Amino acid sequence: MMLTGNQIRQSFLDFFAARGHTIVPSASLVPGGDSTLLFTNAGMVQFKDVFLGLETRPYTRAVDSQKCLRVSGKHNDLDTVGRDNTHHTFFEMLGNWSFGDYYKDEAIAWSWELLTKVWGLDPKRLYATIFEDEQGVLPRDNEAAEAWLRQPGFDPSHLITGDRHDNLWEMAETGPCGPCTEVHYDFGLDACNLQGVPGHVCQVNGDCTRIVEIWNNVFIQYNRVSPTEFLPLPKKHVDTGMGFERVVSIIQGVKGNYETDLLKPLLDETQRIAGQSDGERLANLTAYRVIADHVRAACFLMADGVIPGNIGRNYVCRMIIRRAARFARKIGLETPFMARVAAVVIANYGEAYPEVKRSEKLIAENFTREEQRFAETLDAGSLELNRLVEELKQTGKDTLTGADAFNLYATLGFPLEITRDILAEQALKVDEKGFFDAMEEHRLASGKGQAFGETANQNNEVYAQAVAYLVASGALPASGVSNDPYNQTILRSNLLAIFREGSKIDEAQPGDQVELLLKDTPFYVESGGQVTDTGRIVSDPEGNWEVQVYNTSKPTAGVILHHGKVISGQPKTGDNALAQVDFNRRQSIKRNHTATHLLQAMIREVLGHDAHQAGSAVDEERLRFDFNYPQALSKAQLLEIEAGVNRMILGDYQVIKRVESLDASKTKGAMALFGEKYGDMVRTIQVGDPALSYELCGGTHVDNSGEIGSFFVTGEMSVSAGMRRIEGVTSAGAYAFAREKLNLMNEAARSLNTSPAEVPQRLESLQSSLKDKEKEILLLQSKLAQAAFSAKMDALEEVNGVKYLTAVVPETSPNALRELVDQFRQKHPSALIALGSSTDGKPALIAAVSADLIARGLSAGELIKQLAATIGGGGGGRPDLAQAGGKDASKLKEALALVRSYIEDHLA
Ligand SMILES: [Zn+2]
Ligand SMILES: [Zn+2]
Repeated sequence: MMLTGNQIRQSFLDFFAARGHTIVPSASLVPGGDSTLLFTNAGMVQFKDVFLGLETRPYTRAVDSQKCLRVSGKHNDLDTVGRDNTHHTFFEMLGNWSFGDYYKDEAIAWSWELLTKVWGLDPKRLYATIFEDEQGVLPRDNEAAEAWLRQPGFDPSHLITGDRHDNLWEMAETGPCGPCTEVHYDFGLDACNLQGVPGHVCQVNGDCTRIVEIWNNVFIQYNRVSPTEFLPLPKKHVDTGMGFERVVSIIQGVKGNYETDLLKPLLDETQRIAGQSDGERLANLTAYRVIADHVRAACFLMADGVIPGNIGRNYVCRMIIRRAARFARKIGLETPFMARVAAVVIANYGEAYPEVKRSEKLIAENFTREEQRFAETLDAGSLELNRLVEELKQTGKDTLTGADAFNLYATLGFPLEITRDILAEQALKVDEKGFFDAMEEHRLASGKGQAFGETANQNNEVYAQAVAYLVASGALPASGVSNDPYNQTILRSNLLAIFREGSKIDEAQPGDQVELLLKDTPFYVESGGQVTDTGRIVSDPEGNWEVQVYNTSKPTAGVILHHGKVISGQPKTGDNALAQVDFNRRQSIKRNHTATHLLQAMIREVLGHDAHQAGSAVDEERLRFDFNYPQALSKAQLLEIEAGVNRMILGDYQVIKRVESLDASKTKGAMALFGEKYGDMVRTIQVGDPALSYELCGGTHVDNSGEIGSFFVTGEMSVSAGMRRIEGVTSAGAYAFAREKLNLMNEAARSLNTSPAEVPQRLESLQSSLKDKEKEILLLQSKLAQAAFSAKMDALEEVNGVKYLTAVVPETSPNALRELVDQFRQKHPSALIALGSSTDGKPALIAAVSADLIARGLSAGELIKQLAATIGGGGGGRPDLAQAGGKDASKLKEALALVRSYIEDHLA
């Protein structure tokens, strides 16, 4: 009986569990604590700090299946996904890990046993590669070679040596590294895509598709301190990675990953929905594969809290759904259908990854909403892009400007990747750097700062490498750096290291921008949405030097850098130091953070438990909380939430902070945050007993809710489709907020000469009396115009037997002007009249021609057109009556002077 994908995954975990490995759950696709990485892209990510010696785990052997996503960068070109049978955005990576425990002998023996005995792969099809240094600096990996040759049934001619490029693994330019041994699988001559190419020989690490790598075992044994210097590591590690989809395709004996039971059902469901034949499916295989791959990836993203949006990770989620939607059009799918394909993903993966099952409803809703939104703009976007393509072709260019591509994205919802796809189909390109420049410019211009989920500190990577290197080489102590932001804000400590412009120095000078590493620190480092602490570090005893600290960062686990400026003196490595957090600022941050927890509790109470957290930000001035919810909140809901938070504050509930086991906290219903990396022991924050709020959280909090003082909602808005944001203030901020509103009210009352309580009534009566006055003014104006006109009414002129009157009357309304014309027509049944006037500085003209004169060839409509041109306007109307507006009131007289010549010219 054929093993299913789920059974194969489980057999891998079980195999290593039976050999003393702890089964570790996959980390989130959103890497916790690593601000340099957009998505988890390898099994290594969650264990990186363990290898760097900066973090320890309660086990030395681990096994896992890690969710990975690669959408850009050196590991993946999105364009290749769907075009062949092997590339993916989302995939799973199987791995077994030894942290200073077993080494090459066991790792290789177990690899062989699992592949050939448990999974029954044919030993004749397996090859192994081992490291041999072409530069002669490092020794050949004979241990691995000998281990392979000992395996029963292993063909010695299948042992291949590889160079640094193929068989030396490095984390970065310096730091931990070591040789690796790879297992390759021979799919047979049929799988070679270069058959018949003269001179082609199928070989391991060759250029055809016949023999491919399936499993990489990395042996971390060196610390590279310079390009040529490798020091042995005291503890050696094993890090392995096996592409899950590929090995499933081999075990199931199918041609490629999309034929496995992991992905094939998604293609089948798509075919059912599209109602296509097998032949049509084959002819459109790329579209089918893109849909399957992208829907699966978006499901896993949303399950990890990344819903479609405009920036950062959320953008990636939106982009892949829209890209799938565009390919779907090629097979006639124009209405939302992805929720149905997603249901197949959830059914297949829900057991191994419960988060997918838990988010079932959210996933379906987001797919449908995103497909609808994209459909609304797709036609307009395609039209505009076609126009731009035509323009490119006509001007003989082959690259769309970044500004145009950004405009397509910002106004028509075309992700860059889709624009690129469409252009590539016509052998055109897009200026991608220009796109990001335009995006940055737009962000600056629109005043939007850093968004959730975006890399906070660009320098972090530089320091991460520098510090990781120093720790690994022993120049810095990795242990002993302790961070306790919870129990004190002033701490005696010791200055372990000073950095300036990325280099370690021994002594800093006044005015220097520096990063300080302390042995112990009370400074909180930005995480979980809470901002970093600021403060100062001074010599102990105080007086010799002072550094103003305006930021902190954690470039790698266990290392906290204080970014600041030397105000006075010369801090030296080894000095005793006093670290002081800005106390008042910290207090405000604590109040806002605890209030954010209360806000979340009330949101869930009022809106229901589907409204779950998507992000939060807390600083000394305000708090904001983002959550998934489909529509704007009503005034009543907002008031209920605000009142509830204030009730919890006034209850003065105790805030209980505990460190407890992750399992225990989950049983008790603690709310964990998406994307956070939790250890086995977690910190929980509980407000009240029984709990009003109970969350996993590493932030700083007040001791009793009463300290928060009070809370006001200051704003409620949409962040992106399906995501709302509430902003609020507490304590001093709440006082300032209320004070400002009261001041405004008092000022309004003062200038209205009344009491604040009577302001609304007073405004109402003012408004109605203002309306009366306006009416009165209009009446007076028309009376004035009437009087002026009466005096002129009979001052008719005459040309060629046509009687006519022209006049500019005082400012009056168009209606009043029309009345004057009516009066004139009654009094003079055979005549022409043209009047000018203005309202609020804008000129207006009116003309009327009696029936007998129309019969003689005159027309009010024609006349008014000529006159209007003079006052910079336009107009028209019937032959008997016409009106026009314009811009320049000073030219009214000039315009009316044209009447005489008009009559002369047009009289029949
Ligand atoms: Zn070949
Ligand atoms: Zn929190």
